Amino acid sequence: MMQWSKRRQSSWVQLAGHQGNFQLSEGGEVLKRWSEIEAACLHLLMSDALREFVPRYYGPLSRNGSNYLRLEDLLSGLSNPVIMDCKMGVRTYLEEEIIKARISPVLRSDMYHKMVKVDPSAPLAEEHVLGAVTKLRYMQWRDAVSSTTTLGFRIEGIMLDNGTVLRDFNKTQSLPPLIDAFLTFTKSKLHILRAYQSRLLALREALKESGFFSTHEVIGSSLLFVHDTSRRANIWMIDFGKTMPIPNGVQLQHDMPWVEGNHEDGYLTGLASIMQLLSEAIQR
Ligand code: ATP
Ligand code: MG
Ligand code: MG
Repeated sequence: MMQWSKRRQSSWVQLAGHQGNFQLSEGGEVLKRWSEIEAACLHLLMSDALREFVPRYYGPLSRNGSNYLRLEDLLSGLSNPVIMDCKMGVRTYLEEEIIKARISPVLRSDMYHKMVKVDPSAPLAEEHVLGAVTKLRYMQWRDAVSSTTTLGFRIEGIMLDNGTVLRDFNKTQSLPPLIDAFLTFTKSKLHILRAYQSRLLALREALKESGFFSTHEVIGSSLLFVHDTSRRANIWMIDFGKTMPIPNGVQLQHDMPWVEGNHEDGYLTGLASIMQLLSEAIQR
């Protein structure tokens, strides 16, 4: 029992999000902090065309006074998994966050400091005086300096098989350095790059069929790329904490420029960028 849990624990890796949001569970499950929005999405996804691209959702669980979503552990059974989290879409904030920020802007000094750490000249003069920025301003800045706005996705993190974590992509806007990142991630192995490519082709088809995708604005969600020393390589859609049903009457293309009010998320823009990047990586 002891050995089993040790082995499980060493394979569990969290590349993004707050550490406290996850707990390991038994039997190939992870527990993620409960979110009504995410639970509603996962529930729908279990009977959608995207089902095969999403971790199994086993329902809610209460433990020590906290509520969790029970999810399939996507790393379960893998030895020294290599993983990458790509946050999808041309923006990572909801339209309602803009409205909220307009009505009652909350100033955040922690986000000001994170901003200054990346680029001391990024805050405006008044933000320097306040020593704070709003959360929305911080998120918009992160989207603009990374590849989110330009390419419709950004790499949140990569973990290599020796445990090294690479997170230095928050100021990368163009394709070439991202191709290099994918080559580092796959050690330029053609069969892995090809396996990822065909998984994305299948995902693109499933997205066309998906009733969920045609009725939801997918914000802040990631594609989790996972491979290990075997020939397996897989890609999963995760993180639906900001994925919302679109208002009645709105139709989404998922690859149109976003303007406030049209709810476009740029999910397919990001998918096309990653597919282009993969085919360029394969030709190298
Ligand atoms: P944020 O909103 O800041 O991105 P979050 O708290 O919503 O974070 P997720 O993005 O869902 O959390 O997950 C964070 C990380 O945890 C992922 O990058 C991945 O490494 C890991 N992870 C999440 N879900 C699973 C899963 N089902 N199986 C294995 N690993 C997972
Ligand atoms: Mg996430
Ligand atoms: Mg999230």
